[in-house]
Parts: sequence; structure tokens; C-alpha cells
Amino acid sequence: MAVDSILSSPLGPPACEKDAKALQFIEEMTRNADSVQENVLAQILTRNAQTEYLKGLNLNGATDRETFKSKVPMVTYEDLQPLIQRIANGDRSPIFSAHPVSEFLTSSGTSAGERKLMPTIKEELDRRQLLYSLLMPVMNLYVKGLDKGKGLYFLFIKSETETPGGLLARPVLTSYYKSDHFKTRPFDPYNVYTSPNEAILCPDSFQSMYTQMLCGLYERQQVLRVGAVFASGLLRAIRFLQLNWQQLTEDIRTGSLNPKVTDPPIREYMTRSIRPDPGLADCIAKECSKENWEGIITRIWPNTKYLDVIVTGAMAQYIPTLDYYSGGLPKACTMYASSECYFGLNLNPMCKPSEVSYTIMPNMAYFEFLPHEPNNSPGSTPPSQLVDLADVEIGKEYELVITTYAGLCRYRVGDILRVTGFHNSAPQFQFVRRKNVLLSIDSDKTDEAELQTAVENASKLLREFNTSVVEYTSYADTKTIPGHYVIYWELLSKDSGNSPSKHVLDRCCLAMEESLNSVYRQCRVADNSIGPLEIRVVRNGTFEELMDYAISRGASINQYKVPRCVSFTPIMELLDSRVVSAHFSPSLPHWTPERSMKKRIK
Ligand code: AMP
Repeated sequence: MAVDSILSSPLGPPACEKDAKALQFIEEMTRNADSVQENVLAQILTRNAQTEYLKGLNLNGATDRETFKSKVPMVTYEDLQPLIQRIANGDRSPIFSAHPVSEFLTSSGTSAGERKLMPTIKEELDRRQLLYSLLMPVMNLYVKGLDKGKGLYFLFIKSETETPGGLLARPVLTSYYKSDHFKTRPFDPYNVYTSPNEAILCPDSFQSMYTQMLCGLYERQQVLRVGAVFASGLLRAIRFLQLNWQQLTEDIRTGSLNPKVTDPPIREYMTRSIRPDPGLADCIAKECSKENWEGIITRIWPNTKYLDVIVTGAMAQYIPTLDYYSGGLPKACTMYASSECYFGLNLNPMCKPSEVSYTIMPNMAYFEFLPHEPNNSPGSTPPSQLVDLADVEIGKEYELVITTYAGLCRYRVGDILRVTGFHNSAPQFQFVRRKNVLLSIDSDKTDEAELQTAVENASKLLREFNTSVVEYTSYADTKTIPGHYVIYWELLSKDSGNSPSKHVLDRCCLAMEESLNSVYRQCRVADNSIGPLEIRVVRNGTFEELMDYAISRGASINQYKVPRCVSFTPIMELLDSRVVSAHFSPSLPHWTPERSMKKRIK
């Protein structure tokens, strides 16, 4: 019910007083985008004036845009890595930020095969919390009555490590879920989850998922929205239900907890809340035992109004599968964020995935935009070409460059965004893609160079058979859950009497996985969110046919390059019709939470 006694918002009538304040804040920030940005920059430069980084750039205390733009270079992670490593090794002097570094956030973006380490400061948690607090007030404008039920969200923590200097290193969401901001959040009727904190905070992913699913099933009638951070996570939960519904319904029928769930805080919580409910168990078992799982989400949770998952960027590949399991429920992409900084939110969250635009909140950091030209290499564009937030132009593409309170200055995030419009004076952006990502199934991001190295390493196993990989391409296969990488190989065997056996080619799959970055291997080993890598050997001449096909469609013979990743259906059909054998990784690659020693010693 809209509150009449309080100010209405240009965004729409707020659902309650708290929402009115949040919407008013969005209005204020977006109306004054440029002056907010100017103040943010001045604040950052004032407080960090005495840091090693800014002193080294001779800003001499200046906090204005002109001096900043003329003296501060645009940088990549690799440029900052030696300084970041010093912090990791225990240097507590103010290197980037005047505030002490509270922990490292480990990005899913990698550098030399390892997650990037982002130093952060305590107050950034407040800034992230602030952005979270704006999401439901916006959602409430579009979906009424969300205070009458609950959200079934599958949320997980991941493993954390300590750097040699004693700081924690963990993903940003793990840091948030373990913070008091999340654990002791005040009751908000619009934001009640079915998952207890005990389950979200359990480090074992099976026990955590099992309990979250069980609680969601118990409260099936109360659930009004179903979500996870990314689409891949929600599909993993559906797959989990497929594999575990018999045990889950058995627990509900008898009011007992699967003995595989041993985590003491979960057991303690569940003994208080679990109860036998044979009627509920029958009803869920009836749906789950059907061969056809189309629309399973709304069959199990009949009051679901929308799915809350990110389906923009690499996650767009999951839209058809989500539509299948949910009977085409709306998919709300609510926010755009990263380990380095939370950027902004979607002010029209019930729009179609193809129309999603994120409004960057000008209070989160100082944002600049590098006009995107496909062949820009780091350092090739003079920083003077960077455009301010309020000055970007509709229809143009830019790479996002940020200056944060934690001390990143003109840091290239690697995301390409397209301006679609403005809310007041704040631009809205469509997420176009992340630079240099060839393959992605979950949070993994594999680039062309990593794939090339993996193919080279694996093909060493073929040498003793006088065989080499003459061409290859790849494909992110998301038809199965979890999805997996498919690599097409065309082989040249110089000794037909001694060609590599099935066993050798299976081992090539594993060798490729061992060469991929640590986020890929973590997804494989700890999260089970990527399936075994597959090599499909295609018959000789297939890649020539691929070239003929491309040329028939207008590609230039001189400039033709084998695409290192494919997704276009006719090309997939051509490749698949030429497959002579398929091979899967026979075991899991190596992965531990520890970062490689090479990095630690550096
Ligand atoms: P991480 O540093 O691991 O937190 O990953 C952050 C990256 O995830 C961003 O830089 C984007 O490339 C991607 N990302 C985050 N939010 C979204 C979104 N809403 N849509 C598309 N991609 C996103």
C-alpha cells in the first residue's frame, strides 16, 4: 500500500516510509550526478593525499579534476600488482588508502592464473550496504505485496585464505554475508529470506544447498521470489533438487534431517524448526517424480512472482533454460557490481533481459569512461580522452574506469558498457561484455591466451604419437547442468599405426583443465558448477570447411582467422556433424584455496 503521508517519488509511489527515503536518495544522486562526482573525487583525493601512490604522482594536495586528469595515469591490475603484493606481504603503510586495508577481496577476474587481490577498507562495506538498501524500494515500485511473503535465495560463502601478511582474502559476497551488516540485519518485512543464516554461512556447499532447499520447500507457499546471484547458481539449485528430491521429501515426511548434514549450527537450527509434514512431502514428490520438469519452479513454488538473478553479460546464455524451468517468469537483474566497487542498480528491474540498463550511482566512486575501440591496448589511449560520468553519449560504448575510496586510481575494470539513456543527469548503461573473455560457465572467465596455453600443454601428451593439434575452437555448452567447456580439435597424425588412444585423449582433457586458471578449477572442484571438460575430435578438413563457410558468408579470405570460440548454430552443426570421437576429463583438476607459492614469495 502506498504511503500517502510521505513525499511521492518521480520513480513512483513508495511502498513505505523507508522506501520513500531510498527513492529520494536515488533522485538526489542522479539529479546532481556531476556535482556528486566532483565531490567524491575531492573527498578521495583529500583523504588519500598522503598515500605513497598519490604522493608519487605529485598531486601536491590538489583535489580538482583538471590536476587529477593531467597527473594520474590510467592503470590495469598488473600495473598495481607489485604494490598490492607488498600489502599482501604485510606492509601496513598507507600505499593506496589513508584508511587501513581491512582485507583483500578476491575477484573472479584473474591475473597470471590467480584471482586478482583487491585491497579494501572497512567503510566500503557501508557503501555496498547502501546500494543493497536501494534495491527493494525500487522493486516494490513494480511488484506489490512483497512484504506478504519471503524470498528463496540460494546464497553461499566460499573459502578464504590468509595472505603472508595476515590479511584475509575472500570473495566480496563471502565478506558481506559474514559481516554484521548481513548477519544481524534488522527485520524488514520486504526482505525476509527462507534460508537461515546458519545455512548461508556453512562452508560446505552440499550442506548449505541442502538446508537452503529444504527450508525453501517447507515454505513453498510463502515464497514470492526465487533467486541467486547469477543465473548459473539458480540452475545449479534446480539440478540439486533433481538429484536430491527423494531425500529432501523423506526428511519432510519424517521431520528428520539428512545425516549427511552434520554442520552443528545447521543441525541446531533445524532441530528447532523441522517438523513432519507428509502432505507437503507427497505434493513435492508428485511434481519432482514427473519426467517433465518444465515449469518446475512455479509448480513447487506457486506464488513466485519473479526470478531474482543476473542474466546480463555472460549469463544471458541461461535465459532459455531459466524460461523452461520457470514457465517464463520475469527475470529481474537488479544490480551491477564488482569486487573493486559496487557500481549501480537497475531502476526498471522487471524489464526484459535485453533491455536491462544499470544506472551508475554517482556516490559509489569516481567514474570515467574510455571510449571503446576494439583495438585499444593498455596505455595506447591518452588519459585525456577519458569522459566523465555526466558527459557520456547515448549509443556509444565505453570501458569503465574507476577511482575508489579504497585507493584505486583510474583503474580499468575491463567491462564494456553502452549508454542507453539517462535517469535525470545520471547515464544508464547496458552491460555489453567483459573484455577478453572467451569462455564462461559460472564465475570463471577464460581468455584466448589461457585457452591457447591449455591446448599447447595438453597437446604435449600427443607428441609421442607423432600427433599434433592443427586447429581448435571452443564452445561453452550450457545445455547440461552444470555446463562445461567443449574444445574441438582437428589432429594431424604422422604415424597412422600409432595414433593416440582414447585414454590419452581423455588425459588431454584433464591436462587442459590443469592449465586453466584457479577460478575455473575452483568451480570444477569446490563449487561443482562446471562439468568435466570435453574434447571433440573432428575429422581432417573440418576447419577448412569452417573457413569456406565463413567466406561464403562474406568473410575476407586474407583476413580469415579461425574463431577460438563459437556459438552460431550452423557452425556448431557443421562441427558436430564431423566429430569422430568425444572425450571427457576423467577426474577433477588440482585446486586448493591457497594461492600458488610463486605469488606468495614474489
Ligand atoms: P568480480 O570482480 O568477481 O566480483 O566480478 C565482477 C564482474 O562481474 C564485473 O566487472 C562484470 O564483468 C560482471 N558483472 C557483475 N555484475 C554484472 C551484471 N549485472 N551483469 C553483467 N555482468 C556483471
